[in-house]
Amino acid sequence: MWNERQKSPGCPASDSPRRQTLYAGPVTHAGPMTHVGPVRLARSVCLSGLLLVLAGCGGGGTDSPSAADSAAVFQSSQPYRIVTTVGMVTDIVRTVAGDRAEVFGLMGPGVDPHLHSPSRDDVNRLLQADVVIYGGLNLEGKMTRVFEDMAAKGRVVFAITDGLPRDVLRSPPEFEGHFDPHVWMDVSLWSRCAEHVAQRLAELDPPHAAGYAERAAALKQQLKQLDEYARTSLQSIPEQRRVLVTAHDAFGYFSTAYGIPSRSVQGLSTESEASVADINALVKFISERGISAVFIESSIPEDRIEAVLEGVRSRGGEVRIGGELYSDAMGPEGQYEGTYIGMIDHNVTTITRALGGQAPTGGMNGKLRQAAGKESTGKPNP
Ligand SMILES: [Zn+2]
Repeated sequence: MWNERQKSPGCPASDSPRRQTLYAGPVTHAGPMTHVGPVRLARSVCLSGLLLVLAGCGGGGTDSPSAADSAAVFQSSQPYRIVTTVGMVTDIVRTVAGDRAEVFGLMGPGVDPHLHSPSRDDVNRLLQADVVIYGGLNLEGKMTRVFEDMAAKGRVVFAITDGLPRDVLRSPPEFEGHFDPHVWMDVSLWSRCAEHVAQRLAELDPPHAAGYAERAAALKQQLKQLDEYARTSLQSIPEQRRVLVTAHDAFGYFSTAYGIPSRSVQGLSTESEASVADINALVKFISERGISAVFIESSIPEDRIEAVLEGVRSRGGEVRIGGELYSDAMGPEGQYEGTYIGMIDHNVTTITRALGGQAPTGGMNGKLRQAAGKESTGKPNP
């Protein structure tokens, strides 16, 4: 029951990115939603009831674990239950927790966390979880408030990014007061987040502290190798061509960490909509720089970048889609690209090869299934 994914009959499906193009006009990213279309409104009404259930869950309800239950569950030799959000968090937590916990991720391949609404089953899983770990920094959009309320009511709920000092976080001037949540794009920072998970789980489950530390240390070694692969590969792209153009601004940390300037059609959250002026500015930039390839993202409908391609071509420029990147969701479950390491390896290898740098087709470990430059299959069918 715990491991089965079920569709909720009560709410519109929220798993498909193609169903999430609900906007008719631009909204500002940083402020509250000001433009609410009819479909979004219908879902909000349904969602609000679910969120109330979650926000109201204290320690004393019959469905949610009380403080005493929590202490007992961590002392037991049986696995306890962790619920996570995006795949990048799920994968790290699963590795660090080992066999001490069953980990269930709410957001699978192709799901856009900025727009995701929990189903009834998701809500039940959150209510029954012993620990909830999310991305934080507003990555999970409207669910963020629920997590904060659950934590305030004494549930064990924390963000994987809680342990990072604020001065390592990006806070782009155009989004004053908001940090960029796409921290996993800098492998060294995500490695520190893994350490934070190990520390927090060790505090909850002290008899097994050594196990968490050991697994986190092994993971950190692998991530160090990945970080070095990313740096070496991306730096091999000729400087003039070393620019990453994507659908939304998920690659800021990636850009800073690995020395590849990035530009995007949309802002930090997919909740914002690109204006005509934004698109025109990007078309001009791509045309003038002679950029040959731009990239689509598995969790965002492809049409977001089509206007840019058309604009460049109408100016006589030649530009193609260099491949599909995993930005806010990992690749298909059960495949190498469906792990955090595989996802970053795929991105680095795809970008490097499409822009004329040197990277093996199979990536860092020779495990990549998709040859760089070809479209991947991470998207669920609409
Ligand atoms: Zn994003």
